[in-house]
Amino acid sequence: MPTDQAEAIVLRTSNIGDQDKIVVFFCREKGILRGVAKGARKFGNRFGSSLEPLSVVRVFYYEKERRDLVTISGCDLIESFFEIQTEPATAFLLSYFAELIEEFAPTRAREEVLYRLLLSVLRGLKEGGEREFAAAYFEAWFLQANGLLPDLAVCRKCGQPLAPGWLGPKRDGAYCPDCAPLKKDEVPAAIREFLRWVRKNPPPGACAPPFASGEIAAARRALQALIVYHMEREPRSLHCLKTK
Ligand SMILES: [Zn+2]
Repeated sequence: MPTDQAEAIVLRTSNIGDQDKIVVFFCREKGILRGVAKGARKFGNRFGSSLEPLSVVRVFYYEKERRDLVTISGCDLIESFFEIQTEPATAFLLSYFAELIEEFAPTRAREEVLYRLLLSVLRGLKEGGEREFAAAYFEAWFLQANGLLPDLAVCRKCGQPLAPGWLGPKRDGAYCPDCAPLKKDEVPAAIREFLRWVRKNPPPGACAPPFASGEIAAARRALQALIVYHMEREPRSLHCLKTK
């Protein structure tokens, strides 16, 4: 049977049967790929640690006709992010990134941008990057790459600069205090500078974030309001993060 291969990031795994795993991969060029790794839970199996969440791998697989799941014949580890996940808060954050990618990537919306985003944020965290800032960075680019980030700099109705503003009920823009139909989700004034920085810079490594923690938290609240609206529910992993 012909074997295919792809560079991919492992998003998550779940158990099936006594010895097997279902693995969800995010491929650099092919988007989401779901497969069965037979015998992956046997001691000393051939997959080793290559199926740990967020591992970067080269996966070898073959497809059977009319099956949603491919069969994984092998998996070589390229880069591991296992160590940063020993910190529970980082592990939860990474499962949140994985959930967002799995939820939105089936639309095949510029997957390579998302792939490079996830990989670069992972590397930034590994270098010692600050967690909240890395999270805000990911959320902003994630929305942008999916075409879901509206202009948050000026009022959608009157065009005046927002300082601060409020998200519109359809999440297609923000409004100044005079025009806002609803004052529920605030768009902080600092988000304009934040988004400008994010668009110009790679994910931060070990250097200190260029924004105060309160500004980052306020930006994240606005970005998450957009994500929850488009996902039509709160991400499960975000709920875990909040209740921690
Ligand atoms: Zn206005």
